[in-house]
Amino acid sequence: MNDPEFIVVGAGLAGLAAARALTAAGRQALVLEARDRVGGRLLNHTWSDGHVGELGGQWIGPTQDHALRLVRELGLELYPSYETGTHLAYRRGRLRRFRGETFGLPPWGLLDGLVAQRRLEAMARAVPLEAPWSAPRARAWDGQTLESWLRRHMRTRVGYEFFRAVCTAIFCAEAEDVSLLHFLFYVRSGRSLDQLLRLRGGAQESRVVGGSQRIALALAEQLGERVITGAAVDAIEQGEDGVVARCTGGAVHRAARVIVTLPPPLAARIRYSPALPGLRDQLTQKLAMGSVIKCMARYPQPFWRDAGLSGFAISVERPVNVIFDNSPHGGGCGVLLGFIEGREARALGELAPADRRALVLENFASYFGERARAPLEYEDKDWSQDPWTRGCYGAHFAPGVWTQFGAALRRPCGRVHWAGAETAAVWSGYMDGALRSGERAAQEVLA
Ligand SMILES: Cc1cc2nc3c(=O)[nH]c(=O)nc-3n(C[C@H](O)[C@H](O)[C@H](O)COP(=O)(O)OP(=O)(O)OC[C@H]3O[C@@H](n4cnc5c(N)ncnc54)[C@H](O)[C@@H]3O)c2cc1C
Repeated sequence: MNDPEFIVVGAGLAGLAAARALTAAGRQALVLEARDRVGGRLLNHTWSDGHVGELGGQWIGPTQDHALRLVRELGLELYPSYETGTHLAYRRGRLRRFRGETFGLPPWGLLDGLVAQRRLEAMARAVPLEAPWSAPRARAWDGQTLESWLRRHMRTRVGYEFFRAVCTAIFCAEAEDVSLLHFLFYVRSGRSLDQLLRLRGGAQESRVVGGSQRIALALAEQLGERVITGAAVDAIEQGEDGVVARCTGGAVHRAARVIVTLPPPLAARIRYSPALPGLRDQLTQKLAMGSVIKCMARYPQPFWRDAGLSGFAISVERPVNVIFDNSPHGGGCGVLLGFIEGREARALGELAPADRRALVLENFASYFGERARAPLEYEDKDWSQDPWTRGCYGAHFAPGVWTQFGAALRRPCGRVHWAGAETAAVWSGYMDGALRSGERAAQEVLA
C-alpha cells in the first residue's frame, strides 16, 4: 500500500470517526490500533445464550446529536433503558423505596441538593466550553476541589453525600480528586446535571440493539483495510515533510500528519521525536483516569420487575455504587448491571475475581432478594487493569490543571493532532464527545 496522507492512532470512536471523515473527504487515512479489536472503551460481551451486553460505554441520550446521527446512518437501532417501577436506595442501614428523581433523599436533603444544583448550574453557564480557563472566576474555581466546595456549601449530611456520589458516578473519581472548574465544565459540556444523571431525557436514555460496540464495528467495516489492529504505536517522529509512526512489532508507517486519539495518559506513553512541548507533556502528566469496575449478572428473567422494582438502586455506603436493569432488547433474560467506582473500585480491584463476584452478588441480593445471588452467568471488567485504557470512564482534571495547562489539550504539536473523548468541548468524556473530537481533528488536518 502507498503511504497514506494521514495516520490515525487508535480505533475507538474518535479514531474511527476521524478516519471516516477523512475518507469521506476523498483523502487517505490509515488507522493503527493496538488491540486485536476496534472500539476501545466500547466492548460488547456475548452471553452464552447469544444475548449481548456491554462492558464499556453503552448509553446514548438526547442532544448527543453526533452519536444519534451516526447510529441512524449506520442503520443501527436504539431502545429505551428500563426504568419502570420503584427504585431503591440504601442509606444508614435501611433500604428505602422511591419513585421519580428524588434518589431516596429525605425532603431536607433533597432541598439542599436542589439548591446546590441550581448554584452549580448557574456557575457552569459561565464556563466557556472551548476555553474553561477563560471563565471569569476560573482561577478561583480551579483553585479548589469539588469536595472543598461541597464542604462549604452543603447544609445537610445527606445532601453532601449525595453530591459526592454524583461525582463518583460521573468521573469514577472522588470529589477531592476533581477541580471545581472541571466539574462545572463537565456539567456545561453535558448540558446540565439533570441531563448527565437521568435515564429518560438524559445521558442514560437509550441503548444500541446488539450492543454499542456495533457502532465501532460498523465504522471499521466501512473503512476495511484502512484499519490495522494489533498495531501498537510506540514512537512518533516528525520531520520537515511528514511523520513516521513506529509500532512495537517493528512496522513503520509514514504520512503527512497524525491524529492521536488515545486517552491522554496513554498518549503520553508514546515516545515523540522531537519531544513534545513542555506544556503538552505536563498536561498529560497531570490528567488521571478514573477507576471503575463494570459488573453484570445474567438471570433467566428480570425477576425484580415482578416485584414492581425498576432494577435501579443506589448507595453511598455499599461497594456497588449504582445498579441498573440492563436486560437486553426484546427480553429472553434479565441482566443486572452494577458500577463499582472510584475508591471502591481501587479496593475491589485488589480482590481475587471469585471474591469480588461474591461481594457484588451479595450486594445485588441485598436489594433484590436471594435470587439475585445465583445468576446464570457473571462478568466484570476492571478498566484500570486494561493496558490499552488504564481506567475509565475517562481522564479528569485536578485543581490547577485547566487554568495552567488546559490550552495544550487540543493544540496541535507540529504534525501531531489530538482527538479523543477527553478533548471534546461538547459531551466531553462520552461517546458523542469522542465522535465530535474525531470529526474536529479530521477538519483540522484537512485545513
Ligand atoms: C465502563 C464504561 C462505561 C461508559 N459508559 C458510557 C456511556 O454509557 N455512554 C457514553 O457516551 N460513554 C460512556 N463511556 C465512555 C465512552 O466509552 C468513551 O468516552 C469513548 O468510547 C472514548 O472513545 P475514544 O475513541 O475517545 O477513546 P478509546 O475508546 O479509549 O480509543 C482509543 C483507542 O486507542 C487504542 N490505543 C491505546 N494505545 C495505543 C497505542 N499505543 N497504539 C495504537 N492504539 C492504541 C486503544 O486500544 C483504543 O482502541 C464509558 C466508558 C466505560 C469504560
